[in-house]
This record gives sequence, C-alpha cells and structure tokens, in this order.
Amino acid sequence: MSPESRLTIDLDAMAANYAAIQAEGGGVEIAPVVKADGYGLGVGPVARRLWALGARRFFVARASEGAALRRELGARDATLYVLDGALAGQEELLRDFHLTPVLASAEQVARWDGIAGLHIDTGMNRVGVSPADAGALAHRRFEMVMSHLGSAEAADNARTTGQLTRFREVRPLFPHSPASLSASAGAFKGEAYRYDFVRPGISLYGGGPFETPDARIKAVATLDAPILQIRDLRPGDQVGYGKMFTADRPMRVAVAGAGYADGVLRTAHARGAAALDGVLCPFLAITMDMIVVDLAACPGARVGDRLELLGPNARLDDLSAAAGSVAHEILTGLSRRAERQYIGTVA
Ligand SMILES: *Cc1c(COP(=O)(O)O)cnc(C)c1O
Repeated sequence: MSPESRLTIDLDAMAANYAAIQAEGGGVEIAPVVKADGYGLGVGPVARRLWALGARRFFVARASEGAALRRELGARDATLYVLDGALAGQEELLRDFHLTPVLASAEQVARWDGIAGLHIDTGMNRVGVSPADAGALAHRRFEMVMSHLGSAEAADNARTTGQLTRFREVRPLFPHSPASLSASAGAFKGEAYRYDFVRPGISLYGGGPFETPDARIKAVATLDAPILQIRDLRPGDQVGYGKMFTADRPMRVAVAGAGYADGVLRTAHARGAAALDGVLCPFLAITMDMIVVDLAACPGARVGDRLELLGPNARLDDLSAAAGSVAHEILTGLSRRAERQYIGTVA
C-alpha cells in the first residue's frame, strides 16, 4: 500500500443506501442525482452500479455532464435529465446524446420542441416556471414534472409545507406525467413528499438526509492518511501557521499526510476530528498537506498508522458541521491527490 493519502469509495455501501432510501419510501422509484461527477466520487463507477441496482432515470446539472454520463453508461437505456434545461446553443449536444432537458423557464419551453421534463418553481427561487405560468403549459406533454424543496432538511418548516401545497395544486395540470418533488431530505419526510420518484444525491453517497449522521445511511467515501510523525508539545507551543492552535499543556500530537488540498476543509480545524481505530482525535491544525491531531485519546498511536479523516467513524456530516458547510461541499471538494480505489461490486 502506498504510504500516501487514499480515498476509498465503497459501492456496496452506496447500494445499501439506495436500498435504505427505497425501503423508507415503501419501494418508491429512485432517480439518482449524479451531477458534479457523481458528487466527486466518479460518475462512471457510481452510475453503472446504480443502474445495476435498477435505476433508470438519472439527473445531472449540465448538458456536458449528461454527455459524459451517456458515454459512461454506453448502451444502457437510461433517461438522463439535465437540470439546466435547454440552454440556448446546447440543443445539438442535448439531441446528440439523447438527453432530456428539464425545462426551467417559459422561454425554454417555447424554444425546445423535443422530449422534456418541466421544472416548476414552488419557492426555491432558482429556476423553473412559476405555478401561475404552468397553467398555460398544460396542453403540452412533459416526460415528467418536478419541483425542488429549499429547506427540506429542517423539521416543521413553513417554507416546505408551502412548497408542497403549491406542487399539489399544479400537479393535476399534468395528469399523464410522473411527478417528483424530493431530493434526499424530502425522501425521508413521508408519503406526501414522495410522488412517483425521488431524486436523492447526498444520502446515496453517505450524507444523512437531515444534515446529521443517520443510522440508516452508511459512509461511502473514506479518506485516510498515514501518521508521518508523532511529536510532543510544551505549553505555549504553536502548531502550524498563525494562531491556529497553541498548546496550554504538554501534549502528544500526530502529524498526518493529508490536508485541505485533499478536501479536508481548513475551517474544520477548531471543531473537527479524525479517527484512529474508531477513537476520535480532535484536529488541532489543518494546512494544505498536513493535519495535526491531539493524541490524548490514542496513546498507542504509531508512525505509519492510518488516520481516518472521513469515513464510518469520522462522519461526513460531522466534518461538514465542523467546517460550517454541508456534506455536498465536502464530497464535491475531494481532490484528485489522494489515490482512489473502489471497493464492493463494480458493475
Ligand atoms: C442536487 C439536486 C438534488 C439532490 O439533492 P441532495 O440533497 O443531494 O439529495 C435533487 N434535485 C435537484 C433539483 C438538485 O439540484
């Protein structure tokens, strides 16, 4: 094994998450979101395994991502939705790769005459046609109709119930089109939010639906790095750059060979932790190539031991909370420096 940082992507864990989301929804169809290179985990291996699990509709953001996904899936006959819709100048790309734009404005609906989904803006205020404008489109056959929730991770949220109400009102305009409202969070909010298919991204890849570790969801990405050195600090010793950390007592610390250039957000340094044999060791400093952790809880640590920076013990949602971010940003920010390996059944 190389003595460098390593990213392990567990496709069996992803399969377990797929099954968990489906079971939560009483067998609801899963239409995986694989934008941004499968949330940074590699769209080819991820999408082929999802296909093997039964997924037949996939979502990407960009038309170029749709083209790349079509190449990765080869002859597999899947519907590939492009959330940007049909941007002017991309019509040929969409047609050449048999992509299905999710039309995101009245202007796009007027310009695109091919097969398409329709995005209705029920209150996310990014893209989509307004519920008021949807009425004028009821004569058209859409391959599906969808909307997207802006605050579904929060419990008892008035914005979310308002969006649900508006989607309920427009849905009957398109009685022949399957409907979708929910991403990962909404898929766990109960029957009313599920409609004909759900569009999970982050919970397939190891993030809890409600931005906190969830027992139903397994870690998919594990980032680990070796301990390069173990050092003793005296009170007053400063670690790393600037004022990141100053010891107030004698401490043993480990220096591991990964840093924010591998995707461990620097802002996590004050609150995050790595795991060694399942025991959490708080971060003290995160620099580009090295992370320093407190070994108080791990007196047996040795040079060469591998610290888990992200994985089944150092949970994705804990790292993102420590960094003041979301799990999506952590995964899509994993860099290409760590050596990658896939485990589990590769389809
Ligand atoms: C990104 C995205 C999703 C997936 O969201 P997760 O929170 O990762 O489950 C679903 N639908 C739309 C429209 C999106 O942009």
